[in-house]
Amino acid sequence: MSTVSPAPTTVGGHVPVRREIDLDAVRRNVRALASLSSPSALMVVVKADAYSHGAVAVASAALEAGADHLGVATLEEAFELRKGGIDAPVLAWLATPGAPYASAIAQHIELAAYGLVQLEEIAAAARGLGCAAAVHLKAETGMWRGGAAGEWLPLVERAAQLERIGMIEVVGVWSHLACADEPDHPANEAQRQVFETAVAAAEQAGLRPRWRHLANSAAALTRPDLRYDLVRCGLATYGVNPLAHQPAPVELRPAMRVVAEVAHVKSAPEGVGVSYGHTYLTERPTRLALVPLGYADGVPMVPPGCAPVGFGGTSLTIAGRVCMDQFVLDAGETEVSPGDEVVLLGPGDHGEHTVEQWAALSGRSPYEILTGTGRHRLPAVWLP
Ligand SMILES: *Cc1c(COP(=O)(O)O)cnc(C)c1O
Repeated sequence: MSTVSPAPTTVGGHVPVRREIDLDAVRRNVRALASLSSPSALMVVVKADAYSHGAVAVASAALEAGADHLGVATLEEAFELRKGGIDAPVLAWLATPGAPYASAIAQHIELAAYGLVQLEEIAAAARGLGCAAAVHLKAETGMWRGGAAGEWLPLVERAAQLERIGMIEVVGVWSHLACADEPDHPANEAQRQVFETAVAAAEQAGLRPRWRHLANSAAALTRPDLRYDLVRCGLATYGVNPLAHQPAPVELRPAMRVVAEVAHVKSAPEGVGVSYGHTYLTERPTRLALVPLGYADGVPMVPPGCAPVGFGGTSLTIAGRVCMDQFVLDAGETEVSPGDEVVLLGPGDHGEHTVEQWAALSGRSPYEILTGTGRHRLPAVWLP
């Protein structure tokens, strides 16, 4: 059985253009990450609709496979998990003043505090509810994104005070790495040292956080010394290698395939220009196949003539510019008919490019390739 949402293009269960999500691959990746990282716990990061894999579906699969915790950016993403029936621990780490903290605390969503003003706002929301907010204090250690820098000592001291009077419980002290995709980058060691100092200061203030956490996928895979009590894995969960210059040390299975059925096929003579700007000229009489996927569906823009698309185990080349909602394949001698399936991206075992290959070709990150597919209108189909 497979589930489809939002399903605007389904006809009798038939989804001609889709993101196909292999939940078994997610489960296998989670098991591999959990066993590699053990005894550290595993938080699976499902922000941005689980990198376009479907937050609730991925969260359920990840928990089945042994994930301990879930992580999201916004409170809205955490609410969506609760609405979807997920009651596991969830940390939401990105909020602005006036965020619905009371609602989050009432739903047992763990909150990050980056500074004193935010901590007071969270504590005030908890006071109104009469129950303690679970808080992860974030230290600045060298990424210079979110987290307390000069304010760290006053933050941990105030947090300890608020904990003593039952307004909050400090369940975590954490930070985030800037260069984990290069495991030997000196910034990792520098961040580790600042993190150790920050943790020591929190303990000095009387805090005993259960979760000290610093590692994302790349660090979880390569730096046991940075795993602490919990690792936060996003990209690797989805079967994409987070390391910049080396293979992943465990087998990761890509969980997404982007698939479309051919809309239209015709013969074309030698020397015609295909698509906008005529950047591609046919080199011989050929067959052209129209695929109903475009940059509005997350197809990356790449130089003409260099992107292979999987078709029945071989590769066909995108001819000319990708349009908003369609592109043309030069099928050459290959027999292609309307209704045949092509694979834009996937595990790479049927002639298609992987997410990493699309990223390299287009000069974007694998994160952008994945989230791009979820931006607009490609319905997801989950394979159990
Ligand atoms: C996105 C994110 C992660 C996950 O990173 P991956 O590289 O996808 O594993 C972990 N922690 C924070 C704070 C993040 O924003």
